[in-house]
Amino acid sequence: MINIENKKVLVVGLGVSGYSAARLLSKKGALVKITDSSSDSEVRVRLDKLSKYNVDYELEGHTSHFCSDVDLVVTSPGVSPEALPILLAKEKGIPIIGELELASSFCQGKIIAITGTNGKSTTTELIGKVLSDAGIKTCVCGNIGNPMAGEVYFRDKDTTFVVEVSSFQLETIKDFKPYISVLLNVTDDHYDRHANLEEYKKEKFKIFSNQSKNDWAVINHTFSSDPIVDKIDSRIVFFGHAEGSARIKDGKVIYSFNDEENVLMETSQIPLIGRHNLENVACTLLVSKIMGISDGTIKDSIKSFKGLAHRFEKVADIDGVEFIDDSKATNIDATKRALESIEKKVVLIAGGIDKGGDYLSMLNLVENKVKAIILIGEAKEKIKEAYGGKVPTQSADSMKDAVRKAKSIALKGEAVMLSPMCSSFDMFSSYKERGDVFQKEVMS
Ligand code: ADP
Repeated sequence: MINIENKKVLVVGLGVSGYSAARLLSKKGALVKITDSSSDSEVRVRLDKLSKYNVDYELEGHTSHFCSDVDLVVTSPGVSPEALPILLAKEKGIPIIGELELASSFCQGKIIAITGTNGKSTTTELIGKVLSDAGIKTCVCGNIGNPMAGEVYFRDKDTTFVVEVSSFQLETIKDFKPYISVLLNVTDDHYDRHANLEEYKKEKFKIFSNQSKNDWAVINHTFSSDPIVDKIDSRIVFFGHAEGSARIKDGKVIYSFNDEENVLMETSQIPLIGRHNLENVACTLLVSKIMGISDGTIKDSIKSFKGLAHRFEKVADIDGVEFIDDSKATNIDATKRALESIEKKVVLIAGGIDKGGDYLSMLNLVENKVKAIILIGEAKEKIKEAYGGKVPTQSADSMKDAVRKAKSIALKGEAVMLSPMCSSFDMFSSYKERGDVFQKEVMS
């Protein structure tokens, strides 16, 4: 536990995470200062809610005077490592930690942490569901939209925290030590923040860095012969599509901790769609077995898991055309998995803010599965350049226009899918708003 009583702690950024951190710090007796580059209405509402704790603050920018005189800096995943308060702290040798590090240092219960490029939210929710269906006191939190710092104060040592962790959060951990750490996959994403795939992978593997021999590492089998796993001190188990201690064989989900093979369920009993989700299920199975949950409970729980909104979500069938909202596909691999999961020809709505991945890595798949691409947002030209030679493209200037154009191309027995490969911030406030607008336009 970090000793923060009567210490001056600077919270950088008053987003959801910063707010939760400031509240936790105040309750634990720290003298909290907040600095935020904006002063929008959400920031002001959060500041209002903190008024009873007597926090000091500056809005609309960071000043060195305000940010210097502190003992500790707590940052949030959204704050750039180049922001003035972070640079100042580095220069002055003031310790910097993230909201996750802060929260976990006050956490008395077990931590199960899940990271990876794709599938974090789905797998975090699924693990959370299986645990709570098994009667374990469970708190699902983290990057999923419910910061851990907002939860630890109210929970006791009997609670198991199932925590979604992003690579940005891992940048600022020090002693974060989950009982079970999960790595789902590492594929092209976030070149806006990480130099290359190797660096990004190293960042993701930090989730294992403080584990010891009594802890568990649950890792995608694709890393089984990567030398990076040799550095892990905890017990390692692999899951995968065809290989690993939990895997898929002849249409069945199976697991084996020793030589004996156990069948959990038929893949046809799983409501989640797609090969990628079978990996998420195999991973959940290993975590659940480590937690001592019976096969029957795991199976029943998975059978009744409906999946999350905006992840390959079937929203309507109109004139025999299926409409799928996969707005959460904010990188190329997620869209690749969606296309692999669908038998029908697809009119794909794609675009937004490009993240620097390699579109050509799935040129064949696009050629085979995609009938036409409707382009939206800033990445229009880049996507057209990659696929335009193989597949017809059309440009749309709004989601309404995109849905209308897609519908006019798709025939009975085909699908229209929003799976953008890009982030949404050029046209929407989030992937969620983008998906909601898509669904609204489909329904209208
Ligand atoms: P995250 O929280 O990591 O963004 P989500 O569960 O929200 O993950 O899913 C994001 C996108 O990735 C969705 O389009 C979803 O269909 C896809 N996806 C889910 N699981 C996987 C996986 N294991 N591998 C690749 N893509 C996946």
